[in-house]
Amino acid sequence: MMDGKALAARLREEVARDVAELGHVGLATVLVGDDPASDVYIRAKHRASEEVGIESRDVRLPASISQDDLLARVRELNADDAVDGILVQLPLPEGLDEASVIEAVEPLKDVDGFHPANAGRLYLGRPLHVPGTPAGVLRLLDEYDVPLEGARAVVLGRSDIVGKPVAHLLLQRNASVTLCHSRTRDLAEEVRRADVVVAAIGRAHFVQPDWIKEGAAVVDVGITRTEAGLLGDVDPGAAARAAFLTPVPGGVGPMTIAMLLRNAVRAARMRQHLVAERTISG
Ligand code: NAP
Repeated sequence: MMDGKALAARLREEVARDVAELGHVGLATVLVGDDPASDVYIRAKHRASEEVGIESRDVRLPASISQDDLLARVRELNADDAVDGILVQLPLPEGLDEASVIEAVEPLKDVDGFHPANAGRLYLGRPLHVPGTPAGVLRLLDEYDVPLEGARAVVLGRSDIVGKPVAHLLLQRNASVTLCHSRTRDLAEEVRRADVVVAAIGRAHFVQPDWIKEGAAVVDVGITRTEAGLLGDVDPGAAARAAFLTPVPGGVGPMTIAMLLRNAVRAARMRQHLVAERTISG
């Protein structure tokens, strides 16, 4: 089992040391409306920030806010020097245009890595901020020394926040990547060829044990809430064939927040350099 919880705890300790060294790191979250699931995520992010010494600001706005007012609030945070990272919790309530809100965030402060400038940089192989979940997937594979160079990697799911960025990260590590989705013909056959499988589709226990190649590494990103608790996309029986498998919960989930905190530190570091350069050049 790839223990994401333990690795994330170690990464958070590193972040705490970095924050102390930097002196100050500020993270602002923006939550529009009162979606209970989003509220849980935001609270978890604040708790994690506080634990590592990041000063977090909890901006809460009513679901009735206009698009223009929301954009104005984001721009205020862009201009605020005490804020190094900005995170707009998605999904936004109906009637608000997510794409333009994401684009309003200054790319250097876009610690979620969703801005087209950050997505484009990742695509070009020159990443700045990589979204937390995909970055966490790669960090886990590295931690367990899973060979990626020349490996056959199959990614299930092509969302902008998980599937596509994971596929790019694997490609940059010289894996041969197949990106699958709901229209993929014979998904089981694709998975059977894979040395590395990353499942991010959101269907409980969809990936069957007999799809898994003997000795493969399997990262389960999926989360489905059921009465029995959180279930991943991969049937736990896959453990009998996989050399490495992430548990759900306790695998990718904790890594996501740890990588977000790292992005906030990176943003602060880059911004401190910029401020220093501005000061030097008058
Ligand atoms: P999403 O935006 O809903 O995308 C799901 C993807 O899965 C789509 O590309 C879809 O294909 C594909 N898909 C759906 N059903 C499929 C099927 N039967 N066969 C093959 N492909 C199928 O979801 P997401 O945001 O990427 O999240 C995916 C899962 O990861 C969810 O369970 C989510 O809760 C979880 N997640 C976990 C974390 C974490 O921290 N652990 C973070 C983010 C997300 P089409 O494009 O063709 O529709």
